[in-house]
Amino acid sequence: MATTDYIIKEDNTQKIFLSENTLNVADILKKHYIYIYEAIIDEGIILKADECSLFKELVFENKVVGFCSYDFSREFITVAINNIYVLPEFRGNGIFHDELLKTMKEHNKPSIMEPTRLVVELLLRYGLAKKITQNIVASSLEFIIPGSHVISNGNYDASEELSTHFYDLNICASIHILDLENTHIAYSEPLNYDIIHYDVLENRRFIDENYFSKIREIFISRDVEIMNVILDLEDMLPVKSYSIEDVVGSGDEFSPYIESLIDDAHVTHEKAVRIKQQMIEEYEAGMIVNESLMIRLAYLFKEDVEPSIKSHSDVCPYCSMPIDSHDKFCHFCGINLEFDPEEKMDSLMEFTNFNQVELSEDIRFVAYKFLKLIAQGIEVEYSIFTIVNTYDIEWSILKKYLEENRYFCNGKITEKGWTFMDNHPLNVYEKYCLNMVDYSDFEAYFYENDGLDKKEIVLNYLKQFNDEFIDIIDEINEN
Ligand SMILES: [Zn+2]
Repeated sequence: MATTDYIIKEDNTQKIFLSENTLNVADILKKHYIYIYEAIIDEGIILKADECSLFKELVFENKVVGFCSYDFSREFITVAINNIYVLPEFRGNGIFHDELLKTMKEHNKPSIMEPTRLVVELLLRYGLAKKITQNIVASSLEFIIPGSHVISNGNYDASEELSTHFYDLNICASIHILDLENTHIAYSEPLNYDIIHYDVLENRRFIDENYFSKIREIFISRDVEIMNVILDLEDMLPVKSYSIEDVVGSGDEFSPYIESLIDDAHVTHEKAVRIKQQMIEEYEAGMIVNESLMIRLAYLFKEDVEPSIKSHSDVCPYCSMPIDSHDKFCHFCGINLEFDPEEKMDSLMEFTNFNQVELSEDIRFVAYKFLKLIAQGIEVEYSIFTIVNTYDIEWSILKKYLEENRYFCNGKITEKGWTFMDNHPLNVYEKYCLNMVDYSDFEAYFYENDGLDKKEIVLNYLKQFNDEFIDIIDEINEN
């Protein structure tokens, strides 16, 4: 065998090809890495993706011994590996592993476009994935399947990309549960490489309703355990941790990320300021976690985002894109899926004797609660979602009330709205720390005496209880 003239990298640096348009993988290989291209042909390997937006050399001991290419997922905001190749004589050196770790440390967690079984087995060996049954693997890196390569035992819209944590080694497929209750399961089409090496077609002859029921049973009976496997695997990843300042910039400055988004998306300075402010408020409210800051930023900068995937039963309450119950945050809009708006509500109505049926009849109360969420920086859509779910009120009714009173306009609280909030009995109740009395009773008294000075109402109300609250009355009088 002739010796190969490897391209030498004295300092081990990786050359990178990056383009806003697509790059043709074979063209790059033929032009710059002919020995790699020839090795691929000799092995009878067909490139999984012809095109990419990022191409990287894989360097080992000062030699270029392979490459990997990345593409950006159309639906999920993630960079996904779509080809990886290492010359046969250099395999077993953990080159792929090093590449994954490097990407995670420097940028973010990559996904893998249509992994072959070999790739999944490498993930197992590297400790980035774990078997949950003899054949089913849970991976910390997500697998992405183009919609046209998805098969399912129900209807699946071929325009919808699939993202999943799971893989079945036996049938060489990324698998994903679309609807656990109705046993709707999606899996990827067989790949050439797997057909040649793993008898996929033969093994797939056993895919029937029984197969799907078994999968369903595993995911139902071991739900919590499986979720913990993935969380544990994810916790071990050396993912770069971003702070809110890293992502949006500190003080009046914009971060380099926002600067580049302004350039790419031609967003106005004004809009960027607004997004930055929104990010800070959402982060402080616990709606975004550090791992999802970058996704959230990209999402907010995208114009007119409409949910484009509809064939999943679990969707994000915020953006309606599919989620997996094993996800910590929505991979599309970056919202923390553990964020509990109810908890936030609970803290708002602390000490109030809250009676849902009774209060839901008082639109003033619901309107106050809604505006209070907005005032706390919670996004409009999420505030609506929260209020509608908590108070069993239709948004159209609340909206009409807010519009008629002109409390809320173009997503913002108006002057009138702020005045309404200031004068609302709950605001007064909280301001004077009246939690020793029943809120509903106080509210009724307040409205009966509407028109009087707020402090006077409070004092008169407390005096009804004779000397019981004399200390508090004195305190209010003093301040
Ligand atoms: Zn979402």
